[in-house]
Amino acid sequence: MATGTNKLPDWEIESIYPDFNDKKFTDHIQKMNDFKDAFQKHLGQGPGAADDALWLEKSIDLINNISIYGHNLEAYTYMRYSTNTRDASALKMLGQLEKMRIPVNDTLIQFRNILKDIDLQACFKKSNSLATFEFFLNEEKELQAHQMDPELENLAADLLQTGGNSWSKLHSAISSTASIEFRGEKKTVTELRNMAHDPDRAVRKEAWEKELQIWEREKTPLSFALNGIKGASISLNARRGYNSPFELSVFQSRISEKTLKALISAMEKNLPIFRKYMDAKAKLLGLEKLSFYDLFAPVDSQPEEFSWDKTKAFVTEQFTKFSQDLGDFAKHAFDKNWVDAAPKEGKTGGAYCIGLPLNKETRVFANFGGTFDDLSTIAHEFGHAYHGWVLKDYPYLHTDYPMTLAETASIFCETIVFDGALQSSSNKISILEHFLMSSNQVITDILSRYYFESSVFEKRAEEELSAEEFSSLMLDAQDKTYGEAMDKDERHKYMWAVKGHYYSTQLAFYNYPYAFGQLFALALFQQFKKIGPSFAETYVQILADTGKFSAIELTKRAGFDIESESFWQEGLDYIAERVDEFVAEVDKAAK
Ligand SMILES: [Zn+2]
Repeated sequence: MATGTNKLPDWEIESIYPDFNDKKFTDHIQKMNDFKDAFQKHLGQGPGAADDALWLEKSIDLINNISIYGHNLEAYTYMRYSTNTRDASALKMLGQLEKMRIPVNDTLIQFRNILKDIDLQACFKKSNSLATFEFFLNEEKELQAHQMDPELENLAADLLQTGGNSWSKLHSAISSTASIEFRGEKKTVTELRNMAHDPDRAVRKEAWEKELQIWEREKTPLSFALNGIKGASISLNARRGYNSPFELSVFQSRISEKTLKALISAMEKNLPIFRKYMDAKAKLLGLEKLSFYDLFAPVDSQPEEFSWDKTKAFVTEQFTKFSQDLGDFAKHAFDKNWVDAAPKEGKTGGAYCIGLPLNKETRVFANFGGTFDDLSTIAHEFGHAYHGWVLKDYPYLHTDYPMTLAETASIFCETIVFDGALQSSSNKISILEHFLMSSNQVITDILSRYYFESSVFEKRAEEELSAEEFSSLMLDAQDKTYGEAMDKDERHKYMWAVKGHYYSTQLAFYNYPYAFGQLFALALFQQFKKIGPSFAETYVQILADTGKFSAIELTKRAGFDIESESFWQEGLDYIAERVDEFVAEVDKAAK
Protein backbone atom coordinates (compact mmCIF):
# COMPACT_ATOMS: atom_id res chain seq x y z
CA MET A 1 0.00 0.00 0.00
CA ALA A 2 1.30 3.38 -1.00
CA THR A 3 0.88 5.15 2.29
CA GLY A 4 4.51 5.98 2.90
CA THR A 5 5.70 5.98 6.48
CA ASN A 6 2.43 7.31 7.81
CA LYS A 7 0.20 5.05 9.80
CA LEU A 8 -3.42 5.19 8.69
CA PRO A 9 -5.72 6.25 11.54
CA ASP A 10 -8.57 4.32 13.15
CA TRP A 11 -11.46 6.50 14.15
CA GLU A 12 -12.13 7.56 17.70
CA ILE A 13 -15.51 6.22 18.86
CA GLU A 14 -15.01 5.70 22.61
CA SER A 15 -16.38 9.16 23.30
CA ILE A 16 -19.63 8.29 21.51
CA TYR A 17 -20.26 5.11 23.48
CA PRO A 18 -17.66 2.93 25.18
CA ASP A 19 -19.63 -0.24 24.31
CA PHE A 20 -23.12 -1.71 23.92
CA ASN A 21 -23.37 -2.74 27.56
CA ASP A 22 -22.13 0.60 28.81
CA LYS A 23 -24.60 2.65 30.85
CA LYS A 24 -24.58 5.52 28.37
CA PHE A 25 -25.73 3.25 25.53
CA THR A 26 -28.42 1.48 27.56
CA ASP A 27 -29.61 4.82 28.96
CA HIS A 28 -30.08 6.14 25.45
CA ILE A 29 -32.10 3.08 24.44
CA GLN A 30 -34.25 3.68 27.50
CA LYS A 31 -34.69 7.35 26.60
CA MET A 32 -35.67 6.50 23.03
CA ASN A 33 -38.27 4.02 24.31
CA ASP A 34 -39.61 6.55 26.83
CA PHE A 35 -40.07 9.15 24.09
CA LYS A 36 -41.77 6.53 21.92
CA ASP A 37 -44.20 5.62 24.74
CA ALA A 38 -44.87 9.30 25.39
CA PHE A 39 -45.61 9.82 21.70
CA GLN A 40 -47.99 6.85 21.68
CA LYS A 41 -49.81 8.33 24.66
CA HIS A 42 -49.85 11.78 23.07
CA LEU A 43 -51.35 10.32 19.88
CA GLY A 44 -53.97 8.44 21.92
CA GLN A 45 -55.11 11.71 23.49
CA GLY A 46 -55.15 13.49 20.13
CA PRO A 47 -55.58 17.26 19.89
CA GLY A 48 -59.20 16.88 21.06
CA ALA A 49 -60.63 20.17 22.24
CA ALA A 50 -57.12 21.44 23.02
CA ASP A 51 -55.14 23.76 20.79
CA ASP A 52 -54.00 22.05 17.53
CA ALA A 53 -50.85 24.16 17.39
CA LEU A 54 -49.78 23.18 20.91
CA TRP A 55 -50.50 19.53 20.18
CA LEU A 56 -48.42 19.71 17.01
CA GLU A 57 -45.53 21.45 18.78
CA LYS A 58 -45.38 18.62 21.30
CA SER A 59 -45.61 16.05 18.46
CA ILE A 60 -42.67 17.65 16.65
CA ASP A 61 -40.66 17.70 19.86
CA LEU A 62 -41.30 13.98 20.46
CA ILE A 63 -40.54 12.98 16.85
CA ASN A 64 -37.30 14.99 17.01
CA ASN A 65 -36.27 13.19 20.19
CA ILE A 66 -37.18 9.68 19.04
CA SER A 67 -35.31 10.27 15.78
CA ILE A 68 -32.18 11.76 17.30
CA TYR A 69 -31.69 8.92 19.81
CA GLY A 70 -32.56 6.27 17.22
CA HIS A 71 -30.14 7.78 14.73
CA ASN A 72 -27.26 8.03 17.21
CA LEU A 73 -27.67 4.46 18.44
CA GLU A 74 -27.99 2.99 14.95
CA ALA A 75 -25.07 5.01 13.62
CA TYR A 76 -22.72 3.85 16.39
CA THR A 77 -23.85 0.24 15.97
CA TYR A 78 -23.40 0.33 12.22
CA MET A 79 -19.94 1.86 12.61
CA ARG A 80 -18.95 -0.97 14.94
CA TYR A 81 -20.35 -3.56 12.51
CA SER A 82 -18.79 -2.17 9.33
CA THR A 83 -15.29 -1.96 10.80
CA ASN A 84 -15.59 -5.55 11.99
CA THR A 85 -18.34 -7.64 10.39
CA ARG A 86 -17.42 -10.52 12.72
CA ASP A 87 -18.46 -8.46 15.76
CA ALA A 88 -21.42 -10.63 16.83
CA SER A 89 -22.60 -8.12 19.45
CA ALA A 90 -22.86 -5.38 16.79
CA LEU A 91 -24.80 -7.64 14.44
CA LYS A 92 -27.19 -8.59 17.22
CA MET A 93 -27.68 -4.95 18.23
CA LEU A 94 -28.40 -3.96 14.61
CA GLY A 95 -31.22 -6.53 14.55
CA GLN A 96 -32.61 -5.28 17.88
CA LEU A 97 -32.59 -1.65 16.78
CA GLU A 98 -34.25 -2.58 13.48
CA LYS A 99 -37.05 -4.26 15.43
CA MET A 100 -37.48 -1.19 17.63
CA ARG A 101 -38.12 0.84 14.50
CA ILE A 102 -41.34 -1.02 13.51
CA PRO A 103 -43.54 0.45 16.31
CA VAL A 104 -42.03 3.89 15.58
CA ASN A 105 -43.23 3.57 11.98
CA ASP A 106 -46.67 2.58 13.24
CA THR A 107 -46.87 5.73 15.38
CA LEU A 108 -45.90 7.89 12.39
CA ILE A 109 -48.74 6.38 10.37
CA GLN A 110 -51.16 7.23 13.20
CA PHE A 111 -49.68 10.72 13.47
CA ARG A 112 -50.27 11.39 9.76
CA ASN A 113 -53.87 10.21 10.03
CA ILE A 114 -54.51 12.79 12.77
CA LEU A 115 -52.52 15.47 10.93
CA LYS A 116 -54.77 15.08 7.88
CA ASP A 117 -57.62 16.95 9.62
CA ILE A 118 -55.52 19.75 11.09
CA ASP A 119 -55.52 23.19 9.46
CA LEU A 120 -51.78 23.79 9.20
CA GLN A 121 -51.93 27.38 8.00
CA ALA A 122 -54.01 28.34 11.03
CA CYS A 123 -51.45 26.65 13.30
CA PHE A 124 -48.52 28.42 11.65
CA LYS A 125 -50.21 31.76 12.33
CA LYS A 126 -50.36 30.89 16.02
CA SER A 127 -46.86 29.47 16.37
CA ASN A 128 -43.72 30.80 14.72
CA SER A 129 -41.63 27.85 15.77
CA LEU A 130 -44.14 25.47 14.22
CA ALA A 131 -44.00 27.43 10.97
CA THR A 132 -40.32 26.50 10.58
CA PHE A 133 -41.48 22.87 10.23
CA GLU A 134 -43.86 23.71 7.40
CA PHE A 135 -41.98 21.64 4.86
CA PHE A 136 -41.83 18.59 7.11
CA LEU A 137 -45.51 18.79 8.02
CA ASN A 138 -46.62 19.26 4.42
CA GLU A 139 -44.53 16.30 3.40
CA GLU A 140 -46.15 14.20 6.13
CA LYS A 141 -49.57 15.24 4.80
CA GLU A 142 -48.52 14.23 1.33
CA LEU A 143 -47.36 10.86 2.66
CA GLN A 144 -50.70 10.44 4.38
CA ALA A 145 -52.47 10.95 1.06
CA HIS A 146 -50.51 7.93 -0.20
CA GLN A 147 -50.98 5.79 2.85
CA MET A 148 -53.09 2.63 2.92
CA ASP A 149 -55.23 1.81 5.97
CA PRO A 150 -53.07 1.37 9.08
CA GLU A 151 -53.71 -2.42 9.16
CA LEU A 152 -52.68 -2.74 5.52
CA GLU A 153 -49.54 -0.62 6.04
CA ASN A 154 -48.69 -2.79 9.03
CA LEU A 155 -49.22 -5.96 6.96
CA ALA A 156 -47.09 -4.54 4.14
CA ALA A 157 -44.29 -3.74 6.61
CA ASP A 158 -44.56 -7.22 8.08
CA LEU A 159 -44.56 -9.01 4.72
CA LEU A 160 -41.62 -6.92 3.57
CA GLN A 161 -39.40 -9.00 5.88
CA THR A 162 -40.37 -12.29 4.22
CA GLY A 163 -41.05 -10.88 0.73
CA GLY A 164 -39.09 -7.98 -0.76
CA ASN A 165 -36.27 -7.96 1.77
CA SER A 166 -35.71 -11.69 1.29
CA TRP A 167 -35.37 -11.21 -2.46
CA SER A 168 -32.92 -8.47 -1.80
CA LYS A 169 -30.93 -10.65 0.63
CA LEU A 170 -30.90 -13.42 -1.98
CA HIS A 171 -29.30 -10.99 -4.39
CA SER A 172 -26.60 -9.97 -1.92
CA ALA A 173 -25.98 -13.57 -0.87
CA ILE A 174 -25.48 -14.69 -4.47
CA SER A 175 -23.39 -11.74 -5.53
CA SER A 176 -21.12 -11.83 -2.49
CA THR A 177 -20.43 -15.58 -2.55
CA ALA A 178 -20.56 -16.70 -6.21
CA SER A 179 -17.09 -17.49 -7.52
CA ILE A 180 -15.28 -19.05 -10.46
CA GLU A 181 -11.82 -20.24 -11.32
CA PHE A 182 -9.59 -17.58 -12.82
CA ARG A 183 -6.02 -18.57 -13.80
CA GLY A 184 -6.00 -21.39 -11.29
CA GLU A 185 -7.51 -19.46 -8.38
CA LYS A 186 -11.06 -19.05 -7.12
CA LYS A 187 -12.25 -15.47 -7.62
CA THR A 188 -15.43 -13.76 -6.45
CA VAL A 189 -17.44 -11.29 -8.50
CA THR A 190 -15.95 -8.37 -6.55
CA GLU A 191 -12.42 -9.60 -7.18
CA LEU A 192 -13.12 -10.07 -10.88
CA ARG A 193 -14.74 -6.65 -11.17
CA ASN A 194 -11.74 -5.04 -9.46
CA MET A 195 -9.57 -6.40 -12.27
CA ALA A 196 -11.26 -3.86 -14.55
CA HIS A 197 -8.55 -1.50 -13.19
CA ASP A 198 -5.71 -3.80 -14.25
CA PRO A 199 -3.25 -2.27 -16.73
CA ASP A 200 -3.08 -5.56 -18.68
CA ARG A 201 -5.93 -5.75 -21.18
CA ALA A 202 -5.77 -9.56 -21.36
CA VAL A 203 -6.46 -9.70 -17.59
CA ARG A 204 -9.36 -7.25 -17.86
CA LYS A 205 -10.95 -9.16 -20.75
CA GLU A 206 -10.61 -12.55 -19.13
CA ALA A 207 -11.99 -11.24 -15.82
CA TRP A 208 -14.98 -9.75 -17.66
CA GLU A 209 -15.61 -13.06 -19.48
CA LYS A 210 -15.40 -15.01 -16.23
CA GLU A 211 -17.73 -12.58 -14.51
CA LEU A 212 -20.30 -12.99 -17.31
CA GLN A 213 -20.03 -16.77 -16.87
CA ILE A 214 -20.92 -16.40 -13.19
CA TRP A 215 -24.02 -14.34 -14.02
CA GLU A 216 -25.00 -16.79 -16.76
CA ARG A 217 -24.97 -19.50 -14.10
CA GLU A 218 -26.88 -17.44 -11.50
CA LYS A 219 -29.31 -15.60 -13.77
CA THR A 220 -32.44 -17.63 -12.95
CA PRO A 221 -32.72 -16.95 -9.19
CA LEU A 222 -31.70 -13.33 -9.78
CA SER A 223 -34.36 -12.83 -12.43
CA PHE A 224 -37.00 -14.18 -10.03
CA ALA A 225 -35.71 -11.84 -7.31
CA LEU A 226 -35.93 -8.83 -9.60
CA ASN A 227 -39.41 -9.83 -10.81
CA GLY A 228 -40.50 -10.18 -7.17
CA ILE A 229 -39.16 -6.81 -6.06
CA LYS A 230 -40.38 -4.78 -9.02
CA GLY A 231 -43.73 -6.63 -9.01
CA ALA A 232 -44.28 -5.78 -5.33
CA SER A 233 -43.32 -2.12 -5.90
CA ILE A 234 -45.83 -1.87 -8.75
CA SER A 235 -48.64 -3.37 -6.61
CA LEU A 236 -47.86 -1.20 -3.59
CA ASN A 237 -47.49 1.96 -5.69
CA ALA A 238 -50.91 1.33 -7.21
CA ARG A 239 -52.55 0.73 -3.82
CA ARG A 240 -50.91 3.87 -2.43
CA GLY A 241 -52.25 5.88 -5.35
CA TYR A 242 -49.01 6.68 -7.17
CA ASN A 243 -49.60 6.98 -10.90
CA SER A 244 -46.08 5.89 -11.83
CA PRO A 245 -42.83 4.82 -10.19
CA PHE A 246 -41.48 8.26 -11.13
CA GLU A 247 -44.08 10.00 -9.02
CA LEU A 248 -42.78 8.28 -5.89
CA SER A 249 -39.15 8.71 -6.87
CA VAL A 250 -39.35 12.47 -7.46
CA PHE A 251 -41.20 12.83 -4.17
CA GLN A 252 -38.36 11.03 -2.38
CA SER A 253 -35.84 13.23 -4.20
CA ARG A 254 -37.87 16.38 -3.40
CA ILE A 255 -37.91 17.43 -7.03
CA SER A 256 -40.65 17.54 -9.69
CA GLU A 257 -41.17 15.32 -12.73
CA LYS A 258 -40.35 18.42 -14.75
CA THR A 259 -36.94 18.64 -13.02
CA LEU A 260 -36.23 14.98 -13.73
CA LYS A 261 -37.22 15.42 -17.39
CA ALA A 262 -34.95 18.46 -17.76
CA LEU A 263 -32.04 16.60 -16.15
CA ILE A 264 -32.47 13.46 -18.28
CA SER A 265 -32.91 15.45 -21.47
CA ALA A 266 -29.72 17.46 -20.81
CA MET A 267 -27.83 14.21 -20.16
CA GLU A 268 -29.14 12.73 -23.43
CA LYS A 269 -28.18 15.76 -25.49
CA ASN A 270 -24.64 15.74 -24.12
CA LEU A 271 -23.84 12.09 -24.78
CA PRO A 272 -21.58 13.08 -27.72
CA ILE A 273 -19.20 14.76 -25.22
CA PHE A 274 -18.71 11.46 -23.46
CA ARG A 275 -18.31 9.54 -26.69
CA LYS A 276 -15.58 11.99 -27.64
CA TYR A 277 -13.86 11.24 -24.32
CA MET A 278 -14.21 7.48 -24.83
CA ASP A 279 -12.77 7.71 -28.35
CA ALA A 280 -9.80 9.67 -27.00
CA LYS A 281 -9.27 7.14 -24.23
CA ALA A 282 -9.36 4.30 -26.81
CA LYS A 283 -6.72 6.14 -28.81
CA LEU A 284 -4.56 6.57 -25.74
CA LEU A 285 -4.82 2.84 -25.02
CA GLY A 286 -3.97 2.03 -28.64
CA LEU A 287 -7.44 0.66 -29.38
CA GLU A 288 -9.93 1.35 -32.10
CA LYS A 289 -12.87 1.32 -29.70
CA LEU A 290 -13.36 0.74 -25.99
CA SER A 291 -14.89 -2.48 -24.74
CA PHE A 292 -16.86 -2.58 -21.50
CA TYR A 293 -13.78 -3.88 -19.68
CA ASP A 294 -11.72 -0.87 -20.80
CA LEU A 295 -13.89 1.73 -19.09
CA PHE A 296 -11.80 1.65 -15.90
CA ALA A 297 -8.47 0.85 -17.53
CA PRO A 298 -5.66 3.00 -16.12
CA VAL A 299 -4.02 5.38 -18.58
CA ASP A 300 -1.01 6.00 -16.40
CA SER A 301 1.56 3.32 -15.59
CA GLN A 302 3.07 5.31 -12.72
CA PRO A 303 0.29 7.17 -10.97
CA GLU A 304 1.21 9.69 -8.30
CA GLU A 305 1.13 8.30 -4.77
CA PHE A 306 -0.55 10.02 -1.85
CA SER A 307 0.55 9.26 1.68
CA TRP A 308 -1.91 9.93 4.49
CA ASP A 309 -0.02 13.06 5.58
CA LYS A 310 0.07 14.37 2.03
CA THR A 311 -3.66 13.66 1.67
CA LYS A 312 -4.49 15.54 4.87
CA ALA A 313 -2.36 18.51 3.82
CA PHE A 314 -3.73 18.60 0.27
CA VAL A 315 -7.41 18.31 1.23
CA THR A 316 -7.06 20.95 3.96
CA GLU A 317 -5.16 23.32 1.67
CA GLN A 318 -7.68 23.04 -1.19
CA PHE A 319 -10.68 23.34 1.12
CA THR A 320 -9.13 26.48 2.65
CA LYS A 321 -8.89 27.99 -0.83
CA PHE A 322 -12.67 27.77 -0.99
CA SER A 323 -13.28 29.07 2.53
CA GLN A 324 -11.48 29.29 5.87
CA ASP A 325 -14.45 27.56 7.50
CA LEU A 326 -14.30 24.52 5.21
CA GLY A 327 -10.51 24.29 5.68
CA ASP A 328 -10.84 24.61 9.47
CA PHE A 329 -13.47 21.90 9.45
CA ALA A 330 -11.19 19.48 7.57
CA LYS A 331 -8.35 20.19 10.00
CA HIS A 332 -10.67 19.64 12.96
CA ALA A 333 -11.94 16.33 11.57
CA PHE A 334 -8.42 15.06 10.85
CA ASP A 335 -7.08 16.23 14.24
CA LYS A 336 -9.95 14.67 16.17
CA ASN A 337 -9.50 11.33 14.38
CA TRP A 338 -12.90 11.27 12.75
CA VAL A 339 -11.66 9.03 9.93
CA ASP A 340 -11.24 5.26 9.87
CA ALA A 341 -8.86 5.09 6.95
CA ALA A 342 -7.11 1.71 6.94
CA PRO A 343 -8.46 -1.28 5.02
CA LYS A 344 -8.48 -4.25 7.39
CA GLU A 345 -9.61 -7.83 7.76
CA GLY A 346 -13.35 -8.01 8.45
CA LYS A 347 -14.00 -4.40 7.44
CA THR A 348 -16.60 -3.84 4.69
CA GLY A 349 -15.61 -2.23 1.39
CA GLY A 350 -16.33 1.27 0.10
CA ALA A 351 -16.64 4.54 1.97
CA TYR A 352 -19.35 6.46 3.80
CA CYS A 353 -19.96 9.37 6.13
CA ILE A 354 -22.23 8.97 9.13
CA GLY A 355 -23.77 11.54 11.45
CA LEU A 356 -23.98 11.33 15.25
CA PRO A 357 -26.62 13.98 15.94
CA LEU A 358 -26.49 13.74 19.75
CA ASN A 359 -22.74 14.36 19.71
CA LYS A 360 -23.01 16.95 16.91
CA GLU A 361 -20.21 15.11 15.17
CA THR A 362 -19.69 12.88 12.13
CA ARG A 363 -17.33 10.06 11.25
CA VAL A 364 -15.88 9.04 7.89
CA PHE A 365 -15.33 5.42 6.90
CA ALA A 366 -12.86 4.67 4.10
CA ASN A 367 -10.52 2.06 2.68
CA PHE A 368 -7.59 4.31 1.83
CA GLY A 369 -5.10 2.91 -0.68
CA GLY A 370 -2.88 5.89 -1.44
CA THR A 371 -4.08 6.88 -4.93
CA PHE A 372 -5.64 10.13 -6.13
CA ASP A 373 -8.98 8.25 -6.31
CA ASP A 374 -8.67 7.53 -2.60
CA LEU A 375 -7.86 11.15 -1.83
CA SER A 376 -10.89 12.17 -3.86
CA THR A 377 -13.07 9.75 -1.88
CA ILE A 378 -11.91 11.41 1.35
CA ALA A 379 -12.86 14.82 -0.11
CA HIS A 380 -16.27 13.42 -1.13
CA GLU A 381 -17.03 12.05 2.34
CA PHE A 382 -15.74 15.25 3.94
CA GLY A 383 -18.26 17.09 1.77
CA HIS A 384 -21.02 15.07 3.46
CA ALA A 385 -19.40 15.66 6.84
CA TYR A 386 -19.23 19.44 6.33
CA HIS A 387 -22.91 19.40 5.39
CA GLY A 388 -23.57 17.75 8.76
CA TRP A 389 -21.33 20.31 10.47
CA VAL A 390 -23.32 23.21 9.01
CA LEU A 391 -26.54 21.61 10.28
CA LYS A 392 -25.30 20.44 13.66
CA ASP A 393 -27.22 22.94 15.81
CA TYR A 394 -30.52 22.58 13.97
CA PRO A 395 -33.46 20.47 15.18
CA TYR A 396 -33.22 16.94 13.82
CA LEU A 397 -36.17 17.36 11.44
CA HIS A 398 -34.35 20.24 9.76
CA THR A 399 -31.35 18.05 9.06
CA ASP A 400 -33.16 15.43 7.02
CA TYR A 401 -32.37 15.98 3.34
CA PRO A 402 -32.80 13.90 0.14
CA MET A 403 -30.05 12.03 -1.67
CA THR A 404 -30.05 14.53 -4.53
CA LEU A 405 -28.87 17.33 -2.20
CA ALA A 406 -26.64 15.06 -0.12
CA GLU A 407 -24.64 14.14 -3.20
CA THR A 408 -24.42 17.78 -4.26
CA ALA A 409 -22.55 18.61 -1.04
CA SER A 410 -20.14 15.69 -1.41
CA ILE A 411 -19.41 16.15 -5.11
CA PHE A 412 -18.87 19.87 -4.61
CA CYS A 413 -15.96 19.14 -2.26
CA GLU A 414 -14.66 16.47 -4.62
CA THR A 415 -14.64 19.11 -7.37
CA ILE A 416 -12.69 21.61 -5.25
CA VAL A 417 -9.96 19.03 -4.78
CA PHE A 418 -10.02 17.88 -8.41
CA ASP A 419 -9.76 21.41 -9.71
CA GLY A 420 -6.88 22.15 -7.33
CA ALA A 421 -5.06 19.00 -8.44
CA LEU A 422 -5.57 19.89 -12.08
CA GLN A 423 -3.95 23.30 -11.51
CA SER A 424 -0.97 21.93 -9.63
CA SER A 425 -0.27 18.51 -11.14
CA SER A 426 2.43 17.91 -13.72
CA ASN A 427 0.50 14.85 -14.88
CA LYS A 428 -2.68 16.43 -16.27
CA ILE A 429 -3.75 13.40 -18.28
CA SER A 430 -4.00 11.24 -15.21
CA ILE A 431 -6.00 13.77 -13.16
CA LEU A 432 -8.34 14.47 -16.09
CA GLU A 433 -8.86 10.77 -16.64
CA HIS A 434 -9.80 10.32 -12.98
CA PHE A 435 -12.50 12.98 -13.35
CA LEU A 436 -13.79 11.93 -16.76
CA MET A 437 -13.88 8.22 -16.00
CA SER A 438 -16.12 8.97 -13.05
CA SER A 439 -18.23 11.56 -14.91
CA ASN A 440 -18.74 9.03 -17.69
CA GLN A 441 -20.14 6.62 -15.10
CA VAL A 442 -22.31 9.30 -13.52
CA ILE A 443 -23.78 10.50 -16.81
CA THR A 444 -23.51 7.80 -19.48
CA ASP A 445 -23.80 4.70 -17.33
CA ILE A 446 -26.42 6.15 -15.01
CA LEU A 447 -28.50 7.13 -18.01
CA SER A 448 -28.36 3.50 -19.18
CA ARG A 449 -29.52 2.39 -15.73
CA TYR A 450 -32.35 4.90 -15.88
CA TYR A 451 -33.47 3.61 -19.30
CA PHE A 452 -33.22 0.03 -18.12
CA GLU A 453 -35.21 0.55 -14.94
CA SER A 454 -37.87 2.58 -16.75
CA SER A 455 -38.46 -0.18 -19.28
CA VAL A 456 -38.46 -2.85 -16.57
CA PHE A 457 -41.23 -1.01 -14.70
CA GLU A 458 -43.20 -0.67 -17.91
CA LYS A 459 -42.91 -4.31 -18.97
CA ARG A 460 -43.18 -5.81 -15.50
CA ALA A 461 -46.57 -4.11 -15.06
CA GLU A 462 -47.82 -6.41 -17.84
CA GLU A 463 -46.03 -9.67 -17.10
CA GLU A 464 -43.03 -11.41 -15.55
CA LEU A 465 -39.75 -11.02 -17.37
CA SER A 466 -37.25 -13.76 -18.11
CA ALA A 467 -33.50 -13.39 -17.51
CA GLU A 468 -33.06 -13.11 -21.29
CA GLU A 469 -35.54 -10.26 -21.42
CA PHE A 470 -33.73 -8.39 -18.63
CA SER A 471 -30.47 -8.85 -20.53
CA SER A 472 -31.94 -7.65 -23.76
CA LEU A 473 -33.37 -4.51 -22.09
CA MET A 474 -29.93 -3.84 -20.59
CA LEU A 475 -28.20 -4.18 -23.96
CA ASP A 476 -30.75 -1.82 -25.52
CA ALA A 477 -30.06 0.71 -22.78
CA GLN A 478 -26.29 0.47 -23.28
CA ASP A 479 -26.81 0.79 -27.00
CA LYS A 480 -28.67 4.06 -26.55
CA THR A 481 -26.06 5.52 -24.20
CA TYR A 482 -22.61 4.16 -25.12
CA GLY A 483 -23.59 3.88 -28.79
CA GLU A 484 -20.79 3.94 -31.32
CA ALA A 485 -18.16 4.61 -28.66
CA MET A 486 -18.26 1.04 -27.40
CA ASP A 487 -17.70 -2.25 -29.17
CA LYS A 488 -21.15 -3.74 -29.82
CA ASP A 489 -20.11 -7.30 -28.98
CA GLU A 490 -18.27 -6.47 -25.79
CA ARG A 491 -20.83 -4.82 -23.52
CA HIS A 492 -22.27 -6.06 -20.25
CA LYS A 493 -25.72 -7.58 -20.57
CA TYR A 494 -25.76 -8.69 -16.93
CA MET A 495 -25.39 -5.26 -15.34
CA TRP A 496 -28.94 -5.87 -14.06
CA ALA A 497 -27.51 -8.69 -11.96
CA VAL A 498 -24.54 -6.63 -10.75
CA LYS A 499 -26.14 -3.52 -9.29
CA GLY A 500 -27.72 -4.04 -5.89
CA HIS A 501 -29.67 -0.81 -6.33
CA TYR A 502 -32.26 -2.48 -8.57
CA TYR A 503 -33.01 -4.86 -5.72
CA SER A 504 -33.98 -2.17 -3.22
CA THR A 505 -37.55 -2.45 -2.00
CA GLN A 506 -37.71 1.14 -0.73
CA LEU A 507 -36.06 3.15 -3.48
CA ALA A 508 -36.44 2.90 -7.23
CA PHE A 509 -34.21 4.85 -9.60
CA TYR A 510 -31.46 4.93 -7.01
CA ASN A 511 -28.94 6.31 -9.47
CA TYR A 512 -30.04 9.62 -10.98
CA PRO A 513 -29.54 11.52 -7.68
CA TYR A 514 -25.80 11.13 -8.35
CA ALA A 515 -26.17 12.73 -11.79
CA PHE A 516 -28.22 15.47 -10.11
CA GLY A 517 -25.53 15.88 -7.45
CA GLN A 518 -22.67 16.01 -9.90
CA LEU A 519 -24.24 18.50 -12.29
CA PHE A 520 -25.62 20.70 -9.52
CA ALA A 521 -22.23 20.66 -7.77
CA LEU A 522 -20.47 21.61 -11.00
CA ALA A 523 -22.94 24.44 -11.63
CA LEU A 524 -22.24 25.72 -8.10
CA PHE A 525 -18.53 25.39 -8.69
CA GLN A 526 -18.83 27.45 -11.89
CA GLN A 527 -20.55 30.13 -9.78
CA PHE A 528 -17.71 30.05 -7.25
CA LYS A 529 -15.20 30.56 -10.07
CA LYS A 530 -17.20 33.52 -11.32
CA ILE A 531 -18.03 35.16 -7.99
CA GLY A 532 -15.00 34.25 -5.90
CA PRO A 533 -14.69 33.73 -2.12
CA SER A 534 -17.95 35.51 -1.25
CA PHE A 535 -19.80 32.58 -2.85
CA ALA A 536 -18.92 30.50 0.24
CA GLU A 537 -21.71 32.27 2.13
CA THR A 538 -24.32 31.36 -0.49
CA TYR A 539 -23.02 27.80 -0.42
CA VAL A 540 -23.36 27.48 3.35
CA GLN A 541 -26.87 28.93 3.18
CA ILE A 542 -27.85 26.31 0.59
CA LEU A 543 -26.53 23.54 2.85
CA ALA A 544 -28.28 25.01 5.88
CA ASP A 545 -31.64 25.00 4.08
CA THR A 546 -31.48 21.48 2.61
CA GLY A 547 -33.85 20.08 5.24
CA LYS A 548 -36.30 22.95 5.14
CA PHE A 549 -37.33 23.26 1.49
CA SER A 550 -37.89 21.18 -1.61
CA ALA A 551 -34.87 21.06 -3.90
CA ILE A 552 -36.72 23.30 -6.35
CA GLU A 553 -37.51 25.96 -3.74
CA LEU A 554 -34.04 25.75 -2.22
CA THR A 555 -32.25 26.25 -5.51
CA LYS A 556 -34.65 29.00 -6.58
CA ARG A 557 -33.63 30.92 -3.43
CA ALA A 558 -30.02 30.62 -4.55
CA GLY A 559 -30.95 31.90 -8.01
CA PHE A 560 -31.12 28.64 -9.98
CA ASP A 561 -33.95 27.09 -11.98
CA ILE A 562 -33.45 23.33 -11.89
CA GLU A 563 -36.60 22.75 -13.93
CA SER A 564 -34.89 24.22 -16.98
CA GLU A 565 -32.51 22.27 -19.15
CA SER A 566 -30.13 25.20 -19.46
CA PHE A 567 -29.36 24.98 -15.74
CA TRP A 568 -28.08 21.40 -16.16
CA GLN A 569 -26.13 22.42 -19.24
CA GLU A 570 -23.84 24.59 -17.07
CA GLY A 571 -22.48 21.56 -15.25
CA LEU A 572 -22.20 19.64 -18.50
CA ASP A 573 -20.24 22.51 -20.03
CA TYR A 574 -17.65 22.17 -17.28
CA ILE A 575 -17.25 18.49 -18.24
CA ALA A 576 -17.10 19.37 -21.96
CA GLU A 577 -14.18 21.75 -21.30
CA ARG A 578 -12.32 19.01 -19.44
CA VAL A 579 -12.97 16.60 -22.34
CA ASP A 580 -11.40 19.10 -24.74
CA GLU A 581 -8.36 19.38 -22.48
CA PHE A 582 -8.13 15.60 -22.32
CA VAL A 583 -8.33 15.25 -26.11
CA ALA A 584 -5.58 17.88 -26.49
CA GLU A 585 -3.36 16.03 -23.99
CA VAL A 586 -3.96 12.73 -25.82
CA ASP A 587 -3.03 14.35 -29.15
CA LYS A 588 0.10 15.78 -27.55
CA ALA A 589 1.05 12.33 -26.20
CA ALA A 590 0.50 10.76 -29.64
CA LYS A 591 3.04 13.10 -31.24
ZN1 LIG B 1 -21.84 10.40 -1.34
